[in-house]
Amino acid sequence: MLLCSRRGDLVPAPILSFPSCNLPEKLLQNLEVAGFEMPTPVQMQAIPSALIGQNLLVSAETGSGKSGSFLVPIVSYCAKFNADKPHGERKPLAMVLTPTRELCIQVEEQAKLLGKGLPFKTALVVGGDAMAGQLYRIQQGISLIVGTPGRLIDLLAKHDIELDSVSILVLDEVDSMLERGFHEQVMQIFRALSQPQVLMYSATIPKDVQKMANSMVKDLTIIAVGKPNKPTGAVKQVVIWVDSKQKKQKLFDILTSKQHFKPPVVVFVSSRIGADLLSEAIGITTGIKAVSIHGEKSMKERREILKSFLVGEVLVIVATGVLGRGIDLLHVKQVIVFDMPNSIKEYVHQIGRASRLGEEGSAMVFVNEENKNLFRDLVQILKSSGAAVPRELANSRYTFGSSTNKGEKKRKYGF
Ligand code: ADP
Ligand code: MG
Repeated sequence: MLLCSRRGDLVPAPILSFPSCNLPEKLLQNLEVAGFEMPTPVQMQAIPSALIGQNLLVSAETGSGKSGSFLVPIVSYCAKFNADKPHGERKPLAMVLTPTRELCIQVEEQAKLLGKGLPFKTALVVGGDAMAGQLYRIQQGISLIVGTPGRLIDLLAKHDIELDSVSILVLDEVDSMLERGFHEQVMQIFRALSQPQVLMYSATIPKDVQKMANSMVKDLTIIAVGKPNKPTGAVKQVVIWVDSKQKKQKLFDILTSKQHFKPPVVVFVSSRIGADLLSEAIGITTGIKAVSIHGEKSMKERREILKSFLVGEVLVIVATGVLGRGIDLLHVKQVIVFDMPNSIKEYVHQIGRASRLGEEGSAMVFVNEENKNLFRDLVQILKSSGAAVPRELANSRYTFGSSTNKGEKKRKYGF
């Protein structure tokens, strides 16, 4: 672990094993079955704090086990609270908000795994699936709601759902939620609850997130594991200077090279139409099975695509930002950033998909003059990770832009 800092009152000592923190026996068994032999660094710090009710703002690298660090306390709390409650009397006790449907699905799946065999049921509240079914599920006595802010507001506006018992609110990938304009919706949901414990998570923590956290709760404990706003050191970044017109050919070259193609691969592009066209072109030109995934596809399609990818039927996924955040893509060790995203933070998240728990992965990144706004930040990131900087990038005047330019960027990206 690189560095770990925390600020706040009376912070408990980190745990070194799961059995040391008084968790229900069945939860310990579930952790074992899931292959969680030891807590990860962020779990060592965040679990004991969350268990004693502290409000947390947690930053840790992508793939470092942040979901487990809020789900273990949630499952433990709910299982203990429900221990002697008949099924009909159970009410929502915890809520997790995330910016995307995919991430919600993944968090809910992990929650189910950890809560198996315990008095703990979950409900998923995301767009794309019928609301009636989601409402029915909530009325069946679930303990955890996992949802996107927009859909949840929709549901709360149309139906009377009792939220008085919700005692834990998690905001996962909170910086991304703010960037996507969910601030007011998140606050609306927060105000509908009765002063819950708040746990906020992200790989990157800009100033506006800290401000929001302080406006929601007093006594905020901040936990930072690793270097915030930096990419995980486990992903080797290879930046390739390539003109826009040549990008497709370059990609085909990589995908058809035994040495360079390490499937399954995620290719990130900037638009939905671009994702569709590129996945088609890959199939036609290289014969490799590729599919696209983006926000215009239905929930069912997106689920099926991810499944076929995870079982190895599809080797290449061409994705827009929907896959950039928080999704754990098991087995993926290679990411190709075909179009640089709009911010360096998004870039950090995208290349993070190539690694979990410090396993090595690689990111091939296409860059050219069109990405000049990011040159300065990109070069800094590359240098701090010990990655090579292509000559064109190193020599560009945009890499050494004026200080006014820097100020603008600072405001725009928040760090
Ligand atoms: P993050 O939210 O920090 O990006 P995740 O919570 O999605 O990371 O976890 C990344 C991967 O690590 C997942 O596959 C998860 O199942 C696995 N994982 C999490 N905690 C542990 C642990 N203690 N031991 C083993 N694997 C773990
Ligand atoms: Mg996560």
